[in-house]
Amino acid sequence: MGSAQSAAEAANSVHSYDAVVIGAGVSGMYQLHRLRELGMSALVLEAGSGVGGTWYWNRYPGARFDSESYTYGYSWSEELLAEWDWTERFSSQPENLKYLEFVADKFELRRDMRFDSRVTTAHYDRAANCWEVETDDGFRTRSTFLITALGPLSIPVLPKIDGIEDFAGPSFHTSNWPKEEIDFTGKRVAVIGTGATAVQLIPEVAKTAGRLSIFQRNPNWCAPLHNGPIDQAEMDDIKTRYQEIFETCNDTFAGFAHVPDRRKALEVSAEEREELWERLWGEPGFGIWMANFRDVLVNEEANALMTEFAATKIRDRIDDPVLAEKLIPTNHGFGTRRVPMETNYYEVYNQPHVELVDLNETPIEAVTENGIRTSDQEREFDYIIYATGFDAVTGGFDRIDVRGIDGVRLRDVWAAGPRTYLGLQIAGFPNMFTLVGPNNAATFCNMPRCIEQNVDWVTEFLRYLQEHGLTRAEATEEAMDAWGEHVVTSGDRMLFTKVNSWFTGVNTNIEGHDERRFLLYAAGLPVYREKADEVTANRYEGFVLS
Ligand code: FAD
Ligand code: NAP
Repeated sequence: MGSAQSAAEAANSVHSYDAVVIGAGVSGMYQLHRLRELGMSALVLEAGSGVGGTWYWNRYPGARFDSESYTYGYSWSEELLAEWDWTERFSSQPENLKYLEFVADKFELRRDMRFDSRVTTAHYDRAANCWEVETDDGFRTRSTFLITALGPLSIPVLPKIDGIEDFAGPSFHTSNWPKEEIDFTGKRVAVIGTGATAVQLIPEVAKTAGRLSIFQRNPNWCAPLHNGPIDQAEMDDIKTRYQEIFETCNDTFAGFAHVPDRRKALEVSAEEREELWERLWGEPGFGIWMANFRDVLVNEEANALMTEFAATKIRDRIDDPVLAEKLIPTNHGFGTRRVPMETNYYEVYNQPHVELVDLNETPIEAVTENGIRTSDQEREFDYIIYATGFDAVTGGFDRIDVRGIDGVRLRDVWAAGPRTYLGLQIAGFPNMFTLVGPNNAATFCNMPRCIEQNVDWVTEFLRYLQEHGLTRAEATEEAMDAWGEHVVTSGDRMLFTKVNSWFTGVNTNIEGHDERRFLLYAAGLPVYREKADEVTANRYEGFVLS
């Protein structure tokens, strides 16, 4: 189904399905495929004009995986694995989108998708046991099941700065990057933000911009990506090892192919520490974060040693020692926020046309018609780029008027922080499943590995309901409370729960998001899978089925 619905048709009819899925990214695409296997009628509603989710929206130069490409792709089709060749170890957005479009073509997913359809309301009708969903163009559906695949990082947020509307030139958030190519040659460009997105974008823009000003509030601990091509021989070899690769990922804490070192940093000699850190620093990808000593992300003393190692690496690459200190984080330790993976990021600051504007020294006062005014001066720009992040994990839910039994609003239920069972369901909202929902292992993961677990689990649950003539499943309050306790206890030991970031839901640009609300799940994929499988084995304990 295309988006060419006439307005009249959209306004007058209500379309019925067994299941409606919101979102056509990695999660929604796979969920649709599996719903078809169950013989269910299903429709995916997607705000964008095509499939791909993250890889549809984030078209900024430099956007690429920080997961190894061949660990990110879907694992569930032998044919697909055999047919697709990745060309880079960490492939770029155009290739990633092409891959997801290839999957959509191969499995004919688009015929059950409606694009340019942003869901605005989702109300549960208790008497009819169904979900009524409406989009921004008035398209309405009714379905027994509602599956949200809204994305953990799909709601871009602009900074709360006066005058953003006043800028006369082009300006955009990295996640709303225009589809047409932008030529920055000789232009004066501002980038606000220094998270993973900015760290990928900045070296690319620096290549051609006439002047590049980077507005930094807090630096992050970045590590070298070490990207490289995958030639046909290596790809052929990867294809013979796919099963082993996915098994490794599924056995690790966060679904990556990087296996943690079993030793503790505090129990080995300084030489042994250096040896591992130098090796991991020189290897491609997240090894330095995920394959590190096992106390680095849980013990402050161990973390401080690793942090000092990373600081030395930054100092080595910045010519001006004063500037180097500005690029070294002081408000959090290494790895306690998502580590931005970089390619020539630090070297950019040694170039004469690049300037770091430290907002701790000279805060932004306003965006003006011609540029940006900080406390000391006004700079003129041709482009302003906002790399200022997302309303993470709960943002997609907050932008839909979701109401459960008796019209209770999800926004109210989650006012003090999200509450879920397994990160997949909420008491009072029967038959609604939340893929990559808050406090679900998928939020801290090489995501497709966890997404497949989520989708497979939900699909088997739906199959169970079908086979037992059941049509309604609702998590209990008690199950949700117990899950909440497990989330808090397992999070307590992790240093990243003690730091402000999107992991802990802190966002100064959003009203009411200044307190920490842990949005992730910190016991890791294997424990999560075990707990979810236990629920299945115990005939969906924690749910009321009817
Ligand atoms: P998404 O891909 O975000 O898809 C959600 C879809 O839902 C979107 O298309 C959105 O338009 C749609 N939607 C949301 N609300 C509505 C609504 N109300 N109505 C209709 N449609 C709606 N993860 C990794 O594991 N490895 C990586 O290398 C990696 N790189 C990333 C790079 C960037 C720049 C970003 C932003 C994220 C990255 N991630 C990465 C995380 C990434 O989000 C996941 O890997 C994955 O794409 C999530 O898939 P999803 O389908 O759950 O969500
Ligand atoms: P982010 O990590 O939340 O970073 C946002 C940046 O904007 C931060 O530097 C933040 O500064 C800054 N900022 C926000 N509001 C500001 C304001 N009002 N004034 C000045 N600066 C402001 O967002 P992101 O970089 O888009 O990354 C989000 C996540 O997406 C990543 O953690 C990762 O999971 C994923 N991602 C992955 C890749 C990849 O390598 N594959 C690439 C991009 C994104 P503060 O730190 O001071 O808040």
